[in-house]
Amino acid sequence: MSGVDIAEILGRQRRFFGSGKTRDVSFRIDRLKRLKDVIRDNEDEIFRAIHADLKKSKEEIFLGEIAGLVGEIDHAVRRVRSWSKPKRVRTPLALFPGSSFIMPEPLGVVLIMGPWNYPFQLVLAPLVGALAAGNCAVLKPSELTPDTSWLIRRLIAENFEPGLISVVEGGPDVATDLLGHKFDHVFFTGGTEIGRIVAQAAAKTLTPVTLELGGKSPCIVDRQVDVECAARRIAWGKFFNAGQTCVAPDYLLVDGKVKEELLAAMRRCVIGFYGENPKESPDYCRIVNKRHFDRLSRLLDEGDIILGGETDPSDNYIAPTLINNVALHHKIMESEIFGPILPVLEFVELTQAISIVNSKPKPLALYFFSKSCKNADRVLRETSSGGGAINDTIVHVSSNTLPFGGVGDSGIGRYHGEAGFDAFSNKRAIVKRPFVLDTSFRYPPYRGKLPLLRRLMQYFG
Ligand code: NAD
Repeated sequence: MSGVDIAEILGRQRRFFGSGKTRDVSFRIDRLKRLKDVIRDNEDEIFRAIHADLKKSKEEIFLGEIAGLVGEIDHAVRRVRSWSKPKRVRTPLALFPGSSFIMPEPLGVVLIMGPWNYPFQLVLAPLVGALAAGNCAVLKPSELTPDTSWLIRRLIAENFEPGLISVVEGGPDVATDLLGHKFDHVFFTGGTEIGRIVAQAAAKTLTPVTLELGGKSPCIVDRQVDVECAARRIAWGKFFNAGQTCVAPDYLLVDGKVKEELLAAMRRCVIGFYGENPKESPDYCRIVNKRHFDRLSRLLDEGDIILGGETDPSDNYIAPTLINNVALHHKIMESEIFGPILPVLEFVELTQAISIVNSKPKPLALYFFSKSCKNADRVLRETSSGGGAINDTIVHVSSNTLPFGGVGDSGIGRYHGEAGFDAFSNKRAIVKRPFVLDTSFRYPPYRGKLPLLRRLMQYFG
């Protein structure tokens, strides 16, 4: 799509925003409900498109792409009136008489750029926050999942005013073109390196950004643990979507006392989930493309493969794989894996696991499995991550009462639930004062007023 087209789309959205329609909360609720209807009425189309792109099962598509998204919409529909109301806050004595309030207002026209791993949900869930807050939005889905990208474009074009929502399809060239235009906010989900490019481009137009990035999310397993349950929850969180999940456990740090037991349990779980030959399982997804298949295949030559390891380039298939005896200097420990390969490292004392986590950039998620509340508190206190879970993996993402996002290299900003509304709102801070009691000490000439000002500030400050 040429630069002229983008300028045209933006112009149309600016006019739509300028019309004031999106300021009306009933209008926002109506469009959010419409989005839900569109998803519900086109579920089969959504299943088909995502399956064509990633060979995901209907059940995984439902869990990973539809259920949470619909939950986000329902939550926003129920709460948006309250979120949009001005909120009174305390007024300092120095401003007496007066009142103070915070008044959320929409930012304007926003750009939402999505990745390929949950190609439907990761474009539309940010849109829920953008619409709830009263913005117009341009969406750019990933070019690596073309069937889903095309479906999003068709569904949006058929059901929404182009001034409110428009979809622009394309790859890095189109993304670069879009980022050359002035938006009121850029919401980006993708890899850390591209996130840096997006932040730099946005800086040129002084556009605020939300960056939902990735990273190496550790999963630590303590010796005091329910091994079977931990194994199930780790294997599920890792091999869901064939490990192509931003919050998937990236590497396993396990106490040597329970390592063999845990790995044996994980092998049983994987076989239980996907059978002896996961390639034949309708529930096991494929790697998105040849480039990622090749990248992941190159990670299989260090350490000892104790489960999986089979690959098929003709189908971009990589079996759920566990690699034991991995060392910190191995290639697989350098950057985010983003695939179905789980390296396993052993520790003797929890301190070692904590220092390994802290030697790497701050991750998007951290998981800790233990029956010991003391150890869980310690891990939370002594490490940092965008979010995470104790005794589970990836499920925190599904909660619309928890703000979702990264810290440090794993991202900037938050969304989901009210955090999504906030990400796309300007919190206007207003003091309202009556015309009475207009004391003269604050006005020039100031000569001789300093002692009085000092006393007043001490008293009122
Ligand atoms: P990516 O960064 O390659 O692509 C994301 C988007 O950026 C796509 O729309 C793509 O077209 C666009 N893009 C590509 N090159 C660009 C450029 N030079 N300039 C501007 N835009 C460009 O990410 P991906 O491979 O699609 O997704 C995988 C990554 O995303 C992983 O690192 C994963 O952890 C992360 N991720 C994060 C979250 C989260 O919520 N934090 C969710 C999903 C994925």
